[in-house]
Amino acid sequence: MPQTPLGEDVTPARAAAALTGARQHSYWTDWDYRGLPEPSLRAPLRPGAGRADLVIVGGGFTGLWAAIQAKEADPARSVVLLESGRVGEAASGRNGGFVSPSLTHGLAQGLACWPEEIDTLERLGAENYAGWKASLTTYGIDCGFHEPGELTIALTEHQVERVREGYESARAHGHEVELLDATQVRARVDSPRYLLAHRDPHIGLVDPGLLVRGLADAAERLGVVVHEHSPVTAFETVGAGLRVTCGDASIDAEGVILGTGAFRGPLKRLAIYTLPVYDHVLMTEPLTAEQLAAIGWAGREGLTDAGNQFHYYRRTLDDRVLFGGYDANYHFPGRISPTLEQSASHDLLARHLISIFPALAEVRFTHRWAGVIDTTSRFTPIFGTAFGGRLAYAVGYTGLGVGSTRFGAAVALDLLAGVPTERTELAMVRELPMPFPPEPIRYAVVRATRSALAAEDRTGRRGLWLKVLDRMGIGFDT
Ligand SMILES: Cc1cc2nc3c(=O)[nH]c(=O)nc-3n(C[C@H](O)[C@H](O)[C@H](O)COP(=O)(O)OP(=O)(O)OC[C@H]3O[C@@H](n4cnc5c(N)ncnc54)[C@H](O)[C@@H]3O)c2cc1C
Repeated sequence: MPQTPLGEDVTPARAAAALTGARQHSYWTDWDYRGLPEPSLRAPLRPGAGRADLVIVGGGFTGLWAAIQAKEADPARSVVLLESGRVGEAASGRNGGFVSPSLTHGLAQGLACWPEEIDTLERLGAENYAGWKASLTTYGIDCGFHEPGELTIALTEHQVERVREGYESARAHGHEVELLDATQVRARVDSPRYLLAHRDPHIGLVDPGLLVRGLADAAERLGVVVHEHSPVTAFETVGAGLRVTCGDASIDAEGVILGTGAFRGPLKRLAIYTLPVYDHVLMTEPLTAEQLAAIGWAGREGLTDAGNQFHYYRRTLDDRVLFGGYDANYHFPGRISPTLEQSASHDLLARHLISIFPALAEVRFTHRWAGVIDTTSRFTPIFGTAFGGRLAYAVGYTGLGVGSTRFGAAVALDLLAGVPTERTELAMVRELPMPFPPEPIRYAVVRATRSALAAEDRTGRRGLWLKVLDRMGIGFDT
């Protein structure tokens, strides 16, 4: 018997009741709520002129990994990191905390874009993941990292084939994946909607708030100077270096790394390659013993489904459920504003969660938030240099950057050094993706693509518009 479409078996009133009183803040960085001390404010850059060997712009994972790896390579190098707000309060402190070894937004995307290079990309991804984990130990970062693996689940008949294909492809590339039928999936996590899943044991989960905080502390212990509330407004070539301007203050640096994610900054050229897309997340209160008994999930696997518009969800170490994804909202003409963070997408997520787990009909959410994803047309970051090689950038992780930002930062450091490495020679690094068209065409294209992806999710048929984009090597998802 066909199932009721997801969410339609949950009334809007039930979702609204579940969301009543939810705090409009990322759970991960809601320190007060979590009973953790608020990180003390790092002083803004003082007016006047300064100098440093390396200036890093952006205090998310990319900027922090760049700072740490720069110091690891040369402890004597003076490194200053400038963050326009608070460290880790953008995407890096708002995400799902899934840590994937993939550098290519998953194997399928890597195979589609760089079939000749995929083995190298997979090896470099595995090395990066190992290095990422080793750094947690080196710097004593206690961020709840665990490795329960991930289940990619078919929720509908037409997702079944996708799950199977993903499994076959992963196996063909030597991944230790496992195919679970409905009974086997439901023995792990019980939803009447689960039809099939493939399990990848090498996906980790982390508390991104504690991770970003731990990385910032580690960088400071290595001697990096961090300034918050210090937005960089301009760059100017001065002799062999670059002047970084930040209001009334400036720093002359030998080199600059830019890791500004989805935000429009002084390097205008990035805007044609990245779109800021809002992704929404909910966190429940800790589940009761009865609720846990009903859904199982003893293995705490990370879960995702195989739709174009997919959900990602996890059982946290304190037994809450984080549930995010599905809608990906682009606001004309690439607007980013705190006023866009709360939306009807949260109501839809609430309905979807209860629809997947009817046993959670009475659940309540404690937090609702959104973050901006820096999306490129090929789902992987762009890398490059500007100002005659004095500045290198790494932006555009398209929603899969918790692990790969460490690699992206290493690429940017290599590019800045100007010495070819295995990383800088990758086609993934050298080639730029298809740029997005200018507004208002961009907005129309994003709307059309979203509708086409939703239609495919409903019907299982890939329409003409998506087939054209496929041929052009372009896609849009979270
Ligand atoms: C809701 C959500 C869920 C996600 N889930 C996952 C997941 O489960 N797994 C995964 O791998 N990835 C996930 N991601 C993606 C991941 O969070 C990002 O890829 C990663 O955090 C990017 O880090 P970043 O440092 O490049 O960017 P950001 O964290 O956005 O940091 C960029 C920083 O630059 C600063 N900045 C911008 N402009 C300036 C300026 N002019 N001067 C100074 N500072 C500036 C910003 O304030 C910001 O702090 C998710 C993202 C979101 C939004």
